[in-house]
Order: sequence, then structure tokens, then C-alpha cells
Amino acid sequence: MYDAECAFCEARGIEDWRFVAETEHNYVFPTYGMLDLEGYMIITPKDHTPSYGAWGSTDGRAEYHDLIDRARDAISDQYGTQALVFEHGMTGQTIKHAHTHVVPGLGFNTFVGELQATLPSDTSYILMDEATREERDELRQLGHQQGGYLYVESEDTAAVFFLKPAVEHKQILRKVAARVLGNEDLADWKKVQADPVLKARDLALIKSTTADMRPYFEDINQRTFED
Ligand SMILES: [Zn+2]
Repeated sequence: MYDAECAFCEARGIEDWRFVAETEHNYVFPTYGMLDLEGYMIITPKDHTPSYGAWGSTDGRAEYHDLIDRARDAISDQYGTQALVFEHGMTGQTIKHAHTHVVPGLGFNTFVGELQATLPSDTSYILMDEATREERDELRQLGHQQGGYLYVESEDTAAVFFLKPAVEHKQILRKVAARVLGNEDLADWKKVQADPVLKARDLALIKSTTADMRPYFEDINQRTFED
């Protein structure tokens, strides 16, 4: 599927210099709005699908899990820190095309604790220890069936929160991440883009992340980069 208005379809909104990798089914690149972190990356499917829970491509999802593992290892090697993975499963999305955030330096328990303190207290969720890839997919498929979800995972644990899209949930996982990191003013990437000083700092982090991360994906990358 393809949407002519979408920034992620055919990587329309992702400049060549910003790519970490393009694979058969997915793109990998640092995001605008780096939350002051080196190594923050987005993984997005080439197909225009609203969420990973809605994505019908089995091969694409298998490749996606490989990319997540590779990104985790790369962040650990390069920056000496763990990575937290999260997705706005329609709920809280700004770009209506599935994408997963891979965020260095965030711990699962701290993040989920802060998220639960932020969400309506009656929000139902499933938390799964030692979740397999299939279970991680199933949690999101269930979230999609419920009409929207927030998904968080570490290497060991996965959690899905069942929450329907609403204006007040916009960028909610990024906001929680920024709060945990102590830089809440950087959560809104559109505001960062509008401020010359913040934008320049963000750009420097995007460039260093791209340079640092490309070697870890070199053997599977299918894209030719223009410098
Ligand atoms: Zn799209």
C-alpha cells in the first residue's frame, strides 16, 4: 500500500544523508527530535500500514525483529547502553504510518512506571516477561484489534497498553521518554525544528548517529548513500 501524502511512504520525508539503512521491507534512520540522545533511531516498514499490529507482511515482520536486535546490539556496542523500543500503535502517532522508536539509555521499568502514572488509571494492559517474537507480534495485533495501542519492549519484556487514539495522547510515549530523561521541552519534534538552536543541536546528533550506526548495518543495507 502507498499513500501519496505520507512522509514515510517511499521514504519521502527521509533525506539520503539521514539513512542508516534500507532493507527489503524496512527503513532505519535517526529521527527529527533526538531527545538529546546519540543513537536514537526509527524503524519503519516500506508498506503504508498504520501500525506493526496491522501489518500483514510476515517476511517484513521477521526482518523487522532482526533489525531491532541489530539496533540494540549496535547501541550497546557503540554507546555502552541498553535500548528501549516503543511504538505508538495508531494512538499518539503524528505520522500515520507504522514506525518503531529505538531509544538508548531508557530502562523498561522506569519508563513503564512513568507511563502508567501518565495514562488513565483504568487503562488495561498486558505485560509479558521473556516474550518471544511471535508473542511480541501478537500483543500488537491484539492492540490493533482493540482500535489502538501503546507498545513498549526491552530485550526481555514486552508490554501493550490498550488505548484508543485521542488528541490528548499525541506523542505520549515520546513525552514520557523526555520526562524520564529530564528534557521534557524536547519532546515535541516540531517545536525543536522551529527553534534554531535546538534544531542545530538536533541536526548534529542526527549526523553523528547516522555516521556511527551505518557500519553496523552495512552488510544488509541496500541503499546507496550520497554524501
Ligand atoms: Zn506511508
